[in-house]
Amino acid sequence: MHLGKLCKYAGECTVYQDENKEIEKPIFLVRNVFCNRGKKGWYNCQRFLAYEEGKDVPDSMKPQG
Ligand code: SF4
Repeated sequence: MHLGKLCKYAGECTVYQDENKEIEKPIFLVRNVFCNRGKKGWYNCQRFLAYEEGKDVPDSMKPQG
């Protein structure tokens, strides 16, 4: 586990917590592509960008937007 590469919003994020029903892929794939990948993954995630901008992040929002 590379903790330095884990998104700082993982604890509150419905995607990472596997509580987002819009996510169809196996959750580990989504985590590997976005959450556990450092900046490369985070900055491709629309949820991350919304958190960073202080916007409302709906529970159902996907990394792809
Ligand atoms: S990268 Fe995106 S999907 Fe993953 S924990 Fe961060 S905000 Fe959630």
